[in-house]
Amino acid sequence: METIIQVENVSRVYHVGARKVPALQDVSLAMAAGKLVALRGRSGSGKTTLLNCIGGLDQPNSGRIWVGGEEVTKLSEPRRVQLRRRQIGFVFQSHALLPTYSARENVDLMLRLASVPRQERRARTEEVLQLVGLSKWMDHRPYELSGGQQQRVAIARAIATRPTIILADEPTGELDTATGQQILQLFRHIADVEGTTILIATHDLAVDAFADEVVHLQDGRVIPSLASAH
Ligand code: ADP
Ligand code: MG
Repeated sequence: METIIQVENVSRVYHVGARKVPALQDVSLAMAAGKLVALRGRSGSGKTTLLNCIGGLDQPNSGRIWVGGEEVTKLSEPRRVQLRRRQIGFVFQSHALLPTYSARENVDLMLRLASVPRQERRARTEEVLQLVGLSKWMDHRPYELSGGQQQRVAIARAIATRPTIILADEPTGELDTATGQQILQLFRHIADVEGTTILIATHDLAVDAFADEVVHLQDGRVIPSLASAH
């Protein structure tokens, strides 16, 4: 099976004054195309740092990372920006939608940034908003939507450009349990329907039920999963 994300011996140390904080220590992992993988660990275990390194928002001190055959850790900043635009969709804990834009306009903006022609934009916008269950809410603005619906818009926006991978950082962090479950279900649905490779960083145990694989981080290291112990 095609490997879409490869992380090899990645370490990331933050310098806080004279102190060194090892956020990632010799992390290696591989993700196959089309899989939904959960990156689980407590707060401070290094999940966000790893996602940022994979997505080219941060750079490791050592080690190498490939996304879709391209070595992210070797790219210049402009090329990394390009890779992010073309291949990666981000979903964060706080959806960061533009408040004065409707759901439709928020999604359309991403397609415009990716230089998708106008005729295609309309169809794709409606398609992804339908996919996330918001066909009736396309012309509503964020403040007219619930937290779960806002997160659905953020997900629609992330998948609109058909990225190779989706990186989601605590996407259920601000949602109640039931709504969080629905959002995880939606990620599962997207992996199945669109074939998008999805990496979800979370401390939420509920993710296990929806993931093809669970990677555990502890103090910046990958720890052997309990599932593979028997
Ligand atoms: P998680 O997302 O699992 O909560 P993080 O990747 O945010 O973990 O953090 C991993 C470790 O790195 C923590 O000890 C955190 O305090 C530290 N850290 C993260 N970002 C920074 C930063 N910008 N400067 C200094 N230390 C940081
Ligand atoms: Mg985090």
